[in-house]
Amino acid sequence: MVVSKMRPVEQIEELYQTGHRVFGENRPQELKTKYEALPKDIEWHFIGHLQTNKIKYLAPFVSLIHSIDSFSLLQEVNRHAKKNSRIIPCLLQFFIAQESTKQGLSWEESVEMFESPFFSSLKNIKIIGVMGMATFTNDKTLIRKEFKKLREYFTLLKTQYFINDPDFKELSMGMSDDYVIAVEEGSSMVRVGSACFL
Ligand SMILES: *Cc1c(COP(=O)(O)O)cnc(C)c1O
Repeated sequence: MVVSKMRPVEQIEELYQTGHRVFGENRPQELKTKYEALPKDIEWHFIGHLQTNKIKYLAPFVSLIHSIDSFSLLQEVNRHAKKNSRIIPCLLQFFIAQESTKQGLSWEESVEMFESPFFSSLKNIKIIGVMGMATFTNDKTLIRKEFKKLREYFTLLKTQYFINDPDFKELSMGMSDDYVIAVEEGSSMVRVGSACFL
């Protein structure tokens, strides 16, 4: 997936012409503006921190939200998806880095969510995997360790809650500087921005 945040539509159009169809953005309004300006066969992913009052900009068309970091956010996404008569695919974002600035759920919080009696009432979202960001560092050993942790979370969730659900298959990890390690550690989807725009 090509992260096109902060890039003008002209540059996205160029990548579109070479065949790219999946783009990701981290600001709801910017995403909506680009959706409106660009061809409709683009799949738009949302990858940033999502405030509940901004869900309305994405709900009509977004094809994957990578950044579900609380149960209340998931419930709000469900409510907006229902309003739009859609089922919105979502990934749970886990906190795997050593930086306090990175958003995400802990393992315990995710379990609490799946065990909640309200979880099964969310008919308009579909959780299809997990996402995480490694620490911004040159320490490749640390990055690898964090990706391994995310893969472990993915596997645990798969066996505990999604064993019969073939749609639960996405492991979104890896950016321009660490995608090689991410792929070695089992990433199913890399989110590459700067390396795509020269
Ligand atoms: C910006 C961003 C990326 C892409 O980062 P690059 O280093 O430009 O490849 C990937 N994931 C998230 C969540 C981002 O915010």
